[in-house]
Amino acid sequence: MTKILIPTETTPGERRVSATPDAVKKLKKLGCKVYVESSAGKLSGFNDLAYEEAGGEIVTSTELDIWRDSDIIFCVQAPSQENLIKLKNGAILLGLLNPYGNSDLLQIIKSNKISALSLELLPRISRAQSSDVLSSQANIAGYKAVLLAASELDRYFPMLMTAAGTVQPAKVVVLGGGVAGLQAVATAKRLGAIVFVSDIRTAVKEQVESLGARFIELPEIDEKPRESGGYAKSVTAEFLSKQKDILTRYLSEADVAICTAQVLGKKAPILIDFQMLKKMRFGAVVIDLAVLQGGNCEGTKSNQTIIKDGIKLIGAGELPSSVPYDASSLYAKNLTSLITPFIKDGVINLDKEDELISGCLLSDEGIILQNKVFEN
Ligand code: NAD
Repeated sequence: MTKILIPTETTPGERRVSATPDAVKKLKKLGCKVYVESSAGKLSGFNDLAYEEAGGEIVTSTELDIWRDSDIIFCVQAPSQENLIKLKNGAILLGLLNPYGNSDLLQIIKSNKISALSLELLPRISRAQSSDVLSSQANIAGYKAVLLAASELDRYFPMLMTAAGTVQPAKVVVLGGGVAGLQAVATAKRLGAIVFVSDIRTAVKEQVESLGARFIELPEIDEKPRESGGYAKSVTAEFLSKQKDILTRYLSEADVAICTAQVLGKKAPILIDFQMLKKMRFGAVVIDLAVLQGGNCEGTKSNQTIIKDGIKLIGAGELPSSVPYDASSLYAKNLTSLITPFIKDGVINLDKEDELISGCLLSDEGIILQNKVFEN
């Protein structure tokens, strides 16, 4: 019988859990044994009793054998080194492992012969949608970014007609119209703001307009930005410089900028530099969701609010964790959806030829399959 461990997340600030009681129930139905570390779901609204009722076995962190004994470890972020080294040879680690340039993770995977599935690498194909944690979590980040901006802004979002006069709607510029960006657009529109969006993928124009926002036309240059597998490629310095000129015009009238632009596996592009910030209005708010990838706005720092020339710069790379109940529920559904087809009669047998598995399989029993991600 396959034994699955749901540990308490140890990354500072992480409030999500990798499996909810509902997910545990599903795994039990498949015939697996599920260990849940005591209080693993406490910060996301799921208590030990709920896990027990779902069929989970509550274990404490001092029971070292649990890590040695488990066949699969579900996690949100990579467990601590201290716990990873306890894993037995051939154990499967499944989660957002942040593999890019992560040599410590690489070493442990090799030495303990771990099979690691890194969900950042899941291919963007239709069949992968129900397992796509990047999308489920980015959706939450886009929503929460707008709520954060609205609560930090010194103005209303909607237009208001009052006896004392009319309040004009806030203007929001969203940089990057992917999953997080489109959810930010939808949320800002619901709150009544006027929304503008910049993205380098031409398909985004129609999506943005269908949500009632305005697309900022792309700079005219010969070499157009490219994309592959749903992801944008890096743009040339010439394009970026022209894009920033155009953005300066929009940002100088904006109350809020929501930054979500990313290029997979690369540093995020700087789309707002210090010169551009000087042109923004005193009191404007910039929420940078790309801060953990270097940021779209110069000067943002993770989990910090910095006032620069009267503008609030908020580094918000961990917003999904601030909506932990729903973030965990969706995350857990993503994980169980990925793994379920490979569990028969309580025993897991990963098909390494399957496109979803081969796409995100970093290592097969310690043999590194995707050297590229460790080279950054
Ligand atoms: P992402 O997080 O990698 O990037 C966010 C956005 O930033 C992208 O839209 C990208 O084009 C944009 N960007 C990059 N450089 C920029 C620049 N210089 N200026 C402005 N914007 C820039 O992307 P994402 O949100 O994860 O998804 C991107 C696309 O992939 C979406 O269309 C999404 O619907 C699609 N997708 C498909 C699947 C699937 O089919 N399984 C799964 C997830 C996402």
